[in-house]
Amino acid sequence: MPFTHDDFDYIDAHSHFFPPQIFKAIWSYFEQTDEKGNIKGWPINYKLPTEELVRFLESQNVKAYTTYNYAHKEGVAEYINEWVKDFCMTHKNAIPFGCVWPDDENRIEYVKKILEDHNFFGIKIQPLVQEFYPDDKRMYEVYNLILDQGKWICFHAGTAPYRNKYVGYKNFVKFLNKYSDMNLLIAHMGAFEYKKFLHLLDKHENLYLDTTMIYIPDNIFPERKSKRPKPEELISYQDRILFGSDFPNIPYAYQFSTKGLLELELPKNVYQNIFFNNAKRLFNITVEELD
Ligand SMILES: [Zn+2]
Repeated sequence: MPFTHDDFDYIDAHSHFFPPQIFKAIWSYFEQTDEKGNIKGWPINYKLPTEELVRFLESQNVKAYTTYNYAHKEGVAEYINEWVKDFCMTHKNAIPFGCVWPDDENRIEYVKKILEDHNFFGIKIQPLVQEFYPDDKRMYEVYNLILDQGKWICFHAGTAPYRNKYVGYKNFVKFLNKYSDMNLLIAHMGAFEYKKFLHLLDKHENLYLDTTMIYIPDNIFPERKSKRPKPEELISYQDRILFGSDFPNIPYAYQFSTKGLLELELPKNVYQNIFFNNAKRLFNITVEELD
């Protein structure tokens, strides 16, 4: 293999940071077992305190990282957002993203605050957990705010690792038709509907895909290996794809996130774009890359 993980610098465009108590609850949820003792989600490899998570990313040549998070019920989004704001004040390499719950009465107020006062890059929407359609009317005012300010939304829009009625290309496109100029980051490259999401790159210049969990060598997403975008597609869309890991909520070593990509033996500049340059440009990151 010509390149290894250590040959590159990274911006992790899909990492999660939650307040420690909420992280604990998420990790227990992932690790729940059924009556037969089978795990429902997957074991979490990095159940670490916040500072250790940051140090770990730094040890992996990660120069900047997102704080993706989501509210799972009414009344917690503002608390999570405040925690992220404080976290980012002491961690300059964190890329602040917040969350929203569609029934919070003060949602416009707190979204305005994180975008305008705290300069968050945008919000993450996770319909698998939050259970609403991308095109939900309760979200229009929030969307308009994000659009007006040129901020970003990261959508878990695809059907992996499992589906409910709120995810999938069809639901996402209803939103996209209404908000075609929105700046959008699509988690997991839209898995498992890769082709359809890749196609959107031709029509929507403000849309990007992240590689999270797609090119790892072992099998978490069962349909992944056969359908995932081919090396030629990564090369043609090299300016529109961002490296992401889902750290720390992963059941394997962090470097598996880059291993499968490196095994494709793409040209060096393609890796530099996907691992670093695209996110650097998009998030206005000022750190310099290794040479
Ligand atoms: Zn994630």
